[in-house]
Amino acid sequence: VSNLLAKKDNLDEFRLAIRAWLKDVLPPAEDLERQENMCGRDYAGFEKFQNWWMAELKKVGLWTPHWPVEAGGAGISLKQQIVIAEEMARAAAPRRNMFVITLNHVPATLIPFGTKYQIEKYVAGAANGEVWCQGFSEPGAGSDLAGLRCKAELVKDPAGDYYRINGQKIWSSMSKHARYCILLARTDFNVRKHAGISYFLMDMKAPGVEVRPIRQATDRAEFSELFLTDVKIPVQDLLGQENKGWTVAQATLASERGVIAFEDTERKRYEMEAVLKKAVEKDAAWLKDAQLRREFARHLATLQGLRRLIRELLEKNEIDHNAPTVLPSVIKVVQTQLYQDYADLLTRIGGVEGQYFEPEPWDANGIPGDAMHDFLRSFGNTIAGGTNEIQRNIISERGLGMPREK
Ligand SMILES: Cc1cc2nc3c(=O)[nH]c(=O)nc-3n(C[C@H](O)[C@H](O)[C@H](O)COP(=O)(O)OP(=O)(O)OC[C@H]3O[C@@H](n4cnc5c(N)ncnc54)[C@H](O)[C@@H]3O)c2cc1C
Repeated sequence: VSNLLAKKDNLDEFRLAIRAWLKDVLPPAEDLERQENMCGRDYAGFEKFQNWWMAELKKVGLWTPHWPVEAGGAGISLKQQIVIAEEMARAAAPRRNMFVITLNHVPATLIPFGTKYQIEKYVAGAANGEVWCQGFSEPGAGSDLAGLRCKAELVKDPAGDYYRINGQKIWSSMSKHARYCILLARTDFNVRKHAGISYFLMDMKAPGVEVRPIRQATDRAEFSELFLTDVKIPVQDLLGQENKGWTVAQATLASERGVIAFEDTERKRYEMEAVLKKAVEKDAAWLKDAQLRREFARHLATLQGLRRLIRELLEKNEIDHNAPTVLPSVIKVVQTQLYQDYADLLTRIGGVEGQYFEPEPWDANGIPGDAMHDFLRSFGNTIAGGTNEIQRNIISERGLGMPREK
């Protein structure tokens, strides 16, 4: 197996090499049984499958190609990242669900803010596939994240100073698979709320960390509550300065922009095309219903517009990553609403059968999406990463210059 990045300087060759490799490494789309056997329907199967996919990506240099060279990546350009994303979408390659924080948020935060020790230990570990989760939200602090109350107290100890953590986190995705957690906690309760927050790197195996999975409407438990009781975090695992965690958190949150959304809409494009192709082949009844046809066409048109918007965002980011823009908020609202409306359409097209719900196996390639699953799951996407109402506030205040909410 050769490193595909050797071909990265010629985009056409790079694309064809990735395409050929994907064809080779993934089970064919029609072999549903093999795909299901690979990814399973339980959490152990999911973990095994995700680790298998990571190992395959590593072999050909596609695990962390977007990371900077000094962090062990290949520092590839945005155009090269786009080629990879397009080919992953085209092949309906497995997503890297378990590693979203590991691959994106950890390097984006630790490289600018980490000490030499933190970068050597944690970024290298992330490159080896250690799973990270994000412990930001609390039962009383989601949209108003700066209102968080999980407490961190500095304890002087001859054996090594540490912070003692007490509090509760919630909605922490993939935390039951995680080895480490990026954690926000309050180190000062007596200052303006943004000013008293610190950012920690927490060992999920430390005594006092309890993970309680939350079962979702889809019957899965992708996220969990974290109960933290007298958890010790050594002082060397404070990221950035004490009480300056809010600034660090902005780097984490900004890393959610761009290429992930791009790959996702490319996937949706192939998914919609496949649904249409199948309907035409089978002369499906819904194609004769003008209303349903119109709805499908409207969603397809929205998707095309969205794909354009995302390309625009990527181009803007390439010029200046910090340029003020409300485009990410526009994209988030349009994308999550589109997916929800589209899943709603598919459940109606499916008739009574379309409402039957069977939990999907974990995202192997090519397995046709279960419409009801996608519909139920789509609500989470309108909430995660800042709710659509909050995004609308951002668009109206920062984009349209409307009066700020009091
Ligand atoms: C699938 C999923 C995965 C997630 N993963 C993680 C994770 O890994 N780590 C993590 O820390 N968190 C995670 N979250 C949590 C997520 O960040 C929060 O759910 C989100 O920020 C909203 O906060 P909340 O749930 O407390 O809702 P609230 O903030 O309590 O909001 C409740 C309702 O009020 C509305 N609202 C609130 N404030 C305003 C306002 N000013 N103007 C108008 N409307 C308003 C909201 O839009 C919402 O409809 C995840 C959530 C989901 C759904």
